[in-house]
Amino acid sequence: HNNQLQHSEKMEIISELAASVAHEVRNPLQVTRGFLQLLIEKGNEDDKGKKYMALAVEELDRAANIITDFLTFAKPQIEDVTVLDIGAELHQIEGMILPMVRLQGGQIQMDIPPALYIHGNSSKFKQALINVIKNSIEALQIEGEIHIWAYEEAGQIIMHIKDNGEGMEPVALGKLGEPYFSMKTKGTGLGLMVTFRIIEVMEGTIEFKSEKGVGTEAILRFPAVSES
Ligand code: ADP
Ligand code: MG
Repeated sequence: HNNQLQHSEKMEIISELAASVAHEVRNPLQVTRGFLQLLIEKGNEDDKGKKYMALAVEELDRAANIITDFLTFAKPQIEDVTVLDIGAELHQIEGMILPMVRLQGGQIQMDIPPALYIHGNSSKFKQALINVIKNSIEALQIEGEIHIWAYEEAGQIIMHIKDNGEGMEPVALGKLGEPYFSMKTKGTGLGLMVTFRIIEVMEGTIEFKSEKGVGTEAILRFPAVSES
């Protein structure tokens, strides 16, 4: 029992450290990327030089994506568990992802009734959801649509995230959440692994349904709690 406590204290220190490191590392990555871009645009380099710099920019983007999948919402503070209002959380997320959806020429529709509550850490919960929703956005094709809805049923809060994107073959479906599984040229293969872990800690479940060329639906379930 004592060991268990020490372990969770260690984990807390590690996650706080990771959060501050992420914040500190993001800036120099951005600055370096900016200078490289400037050099490419200045046009003094020969083709080989330009190629190398473009590769360097790609690698910097890869590093930034890894930070995004792990630590978008990480705060260098103690992670407290509170009662989360699903509607409020999702509307904050909507604000962040709307520009991404627009960029893909897609639309997003949310139907979240008031007074749906679960237990969890707000930052972690948002990270888990954004990793799922970002995949939906990245899968969108022409006339892309994402529908997110939630309700309470038999003591559970159930959330659906459904897209009409490219979908997956059954083989891919079976590999979701495996570290480094990605079908994207610029994927990290870490997004859903992070999501699965967070949901497990929250005592929830996530299930995917998908059909190649038709779309994908994620169904999340969490124990419902009353507001107070
Ligand atoms: P990444 O997005 O970096 O590739 P993820 O862990 O987030 O890593 O996702 C793993 C893989 O699962 C993706 O590369 C993609 O092939 C597949 N995937 C996940 N969600 C969807 C979705 N909504 N539609 C189509 N494919 C998906
Ligand atoms: Mg992803």
